[in-house]
Formats: sequence, C-alpha cells, structure tokens
Amino acid sequence: MSVDVDIVIVGGGAAGIGAARRLARSGASVLLLEAESRLGGRAWTHGLRGLTIDLGCGWLHSAEQNSWAALARDADIPLDLSSPAWGKQFRDLGFPPAEQAEAREAFTQWMRRMSETPPASDCAADALDERSPWNAYIRAIAGFISGAPLERLSVADYVTYDETSTDFNWRVRSGLGALVAGSLPQNIRVRLATPADAIALNAEGVTVTTASGALKARAALLSVSTHVLAGDTIKLPPGLDAWREAATKLPLGRNEKLFLEIPADSPFEPETQVYGDPRNSRTGAYYLRPFGWPVVECFLGGEGAGVVEDEGPAAGFAFALDQLVNLFGAQVRGQLKPLVASSWGRMQRIGGAYSYALPTHAAARGILARPFEQCIFFAGEATSVGDFSTAHGAHDSGVRAAEEILATLP
Ligand SMILES: Cc1cc2nc3c(=O)[nH]c(=O)nc-3n(C[C@H](O)[C@H](O)[C@H](O)COP(=O)(O)OP(=O)(O)OC[C@H]3O[C@@H](n4cnc5c(N)ncnc54)[C@H](O)[C@@H]3O)c2cc1C
Repeated sequence: MSVDVDIVIVGGGAAGIGAARRLARSGASVLLLEAESRLGGRAWTHGLRGLTIDLGCGWLHSAEQNSWAALARDADIPLDLSSPAWGKQFRDLGFPPAEQAEAREAFTQWMRRMSETPPASDCAADALDERSPWNAYIRAIAGFISGAPLERLSVADYVTYDETSTDFNWRVRSGLGALVAGSLPQNIRVRLATPADAIALNAEGVTVTTASGALKARAALLSVSTHVLAGDTIKLPPGLDAWREAATKLPLGRNEKLFLEIPADSPFEPETQVYGDPRNSRTGAYYLRPFGWPVVECFLGGEGAGVVEDEGPAAGFAFALDQLVNLFGAQVRGQLKPLVASSWGRMQRIGGAYSYALPTHAAARGILARPFEQCIFFAGEATSVGDFSTAHGAHDSGVRAAEEILATLP
C-alpha cells in the first residue's frame, strides 16, 4: 500500500489536537492540516498589554473531569480554582436581591419543566411559562449557555448537557487557548494555512487535496465545525450527505466576547459581575476585572450576540458601553476603552460559537460521530453527546475518533 501518511487530521482545534495527542503514542504517521495560520480554532488566547485574553473558550467546565485541566496539571501549568462570579449582580445594581431570587427561581422552574415534563415539540420556547415576568432573563441565560434563541433549541439536547456537566469551573491564567494550541506533540507534523479543499475515497483509503497538492492516507479525521461541514468549503464524497445533513441540525450558536480596558481607579471591583439589564433577552453579562486585570469582559449570547455578527464589533462596544453607563453612571463612559473583540460568527473557517441541536434533532450528534467507510472519521465538539459546546468535549471526541482509526489499522 503506498500512502504519504497514515492519518491526515483536518482541523487544529481542541478536537484535532486531542486526536493528535492520542495518535502520537501509536506509532502511526500523522499530518495535521490547519486552514488558519495558528492552531487552536475556537481556543484562542490573545496576548495584549501583558494580559492573556481568551477570545474563545476560557473556562474549564466540569473541571474535575476535564481533560485540559488534567493536561495543565501534568504540565505544571497553574490553574485558578476560585468560583466564578457568574449569576451574581455586583452591588445588586439595577437588580434588587428579591428580583434576583425570583428570576433564578423562574429559570429553575423552566429547567424543571424541560427535564420532567418536556414539551412534545422538543422546543425550549414551549417550556416557558407565558405568565412569567422573567422570560427575557431565561432567554438571556440560555443564550449565554447555548448561543441559540429558545425557538431553535432542542429541550432534550439542552437537558443532556445540563445533566452531564458539573458545578466545577476553573481557569488557566495563562490562557486556555494557549494551553490548547501549545499541546500539539512535537512528533506530529503540521501544516498551517493549508486548508483541505477536498477529501475523496481511493483504493487505499483517502486522498486529501490542498492548494499545495494531494495527499494519500489510510484515513482522514475531520474535526472542523458544523458550520464548515454543512457548507461547501470542503468537497466531500456524496455518501457523506447524511453527515452534512446532521451538521445542519447542529448549527453554531452566537456568542461573542468584547473586552474593554479600564483605569486602575475605576469603580469596578475584581472578580465580580453584572447583567446589563436582566429584563432584556439581549443583555450582556459583564465580568469585571477577571484575575484583577484592568478590563471588563462582556459576554454576549444568543439574540444579544447578533449585534456583533450583524453590525460588527463597534456596534457591540457601543451597546456594552450604554449598558455599563446605565448601571455605573455617565462618568464611566470616558473610562472604558474598547480593547479587543471576537468575531466568531464572521470567521469563514469557524462560523459561530458552539453547536446546539434544533428541536427533535438531538440524535444528530450520534449520526455525525459515526465513521464513514472506515476511512473518514469525525471529531469536534458537536460530536460529543453530553459535553458538546466545550473544549474538553472537543478534546475527548478527538481521542474517541483517534481510537476508532487505530482499531482499523493493521
Ligand atoms: C465565545 C466563546 C466562548 C467559549 N467559552 C468556552 C468555555 O468557557 N469553556 C469551554 O469548554 N468551551 C468554550 N467555548 C467552546 C469551545 O471553544 C469549542 O467547543 C472548542 O474549542 C471547539 O473545538 P473543535 O476542535 O471542535 O473546533 P474548532 O476549534 O472550530 O477547530 C476546527 C479547526 O478546523 C479548522 N478548519 C476549518 N476548515 C478547515 C479546512 N478546510 N482545512 C483545515 N482546517 C480547517 C479551523 O480553522 C479550526 O482551527 C467557547 C467558544 C466561544 C466561541
């Protein structure tokens, strides 16, 4: 059999790197192709003014069982184990304690209806109590978590994530993106800025075509986002239509982060958070001075992230500034300076934040994870049944797909 390499991994995000780490121990020859000029994909630490800002994943969710947390520990990379400030309202600004309790209870009841008496439609909007004054709050929180409007969100899928995840959420001060991108083993060959344009079957396995030539391999491991899979940037064999179809049922939600710089004498206290307006489904969640840094991290989700995707980061910053001025007073307008923003929805090779399942399509994750003809294998956060939308789910899906490939090699 004449092949150039045993396995080609397409995509150098958390899943592709997780797969590469598993394959590096196998003796098989591996080449990783990454379309962008950097590794990490949706794991991206941006170094700026001495800060290590995560524009994509930042939290080690389900931390006590998170592969990246284990990997950081093995590499002596310090972890921050302090509890997140999420859900708390700094000084109860614009959100009195009694209302916070009501809103949290409304969210709990919505979740309970979703798991105990789920609507036949499997549509998360149908589990809302129309009389509740806190439906915009529920939409905002669910938007942060899933990136989706409730009308497009599968109850079964959302509940599965909730039941799989734990309450431990840690961080890596030096950046989760940096941890992911820095974890590719040295014995794995990598070609950056080299997108796979086509994958076809041949007698010996697969041919992967790039602008710099075609490569023959025994197997390809595809770890691109569902936006990319469902689109037309990679030509795939017609037999993969069911996989593409599954990818369309698992679209990427909208989530964006905006970072604002603040002076040292600002009214923002370290490691606190506020919702801009808990009665607005588009509200931002503002993490004030993470790690004590002189920044505010604005997280937009679902309907709220649309402003960045549709109108660009400048519109997102204007929205965030208005919300912060409403809460902290006009004097903070001059203190807050736009620093950096993500634009995941506008990146052709990513196309959004993380996957959610459309109503009645939670099973699409299992369909997407299946190998094709023992030659094309699938990884990526969307293929994880319970830990989708996370960096550790992506990592573990890469390990799973790598082991599937190894089981087919002579
Ligand atoms: C704003 C935001 C916040 C998040 N917060 C968290 C968090 O706190 N904790 C958490 O666990 N997760 C979080 N996530 C989710 C997490 O980042 C992702 O689930 C995970 O990084 C996805 O990894 P992946 O390998 O599946 O996909 P990707 O990271 O998308 O990797 C796929 C790679 O394939 C490349 N590619 C595309 N097309 C081609 C091609 N034709 N040829 C070669 N390469 C190609 C892409 O450039 C990309 O590098 C967040 C995501 C976002 C956007």
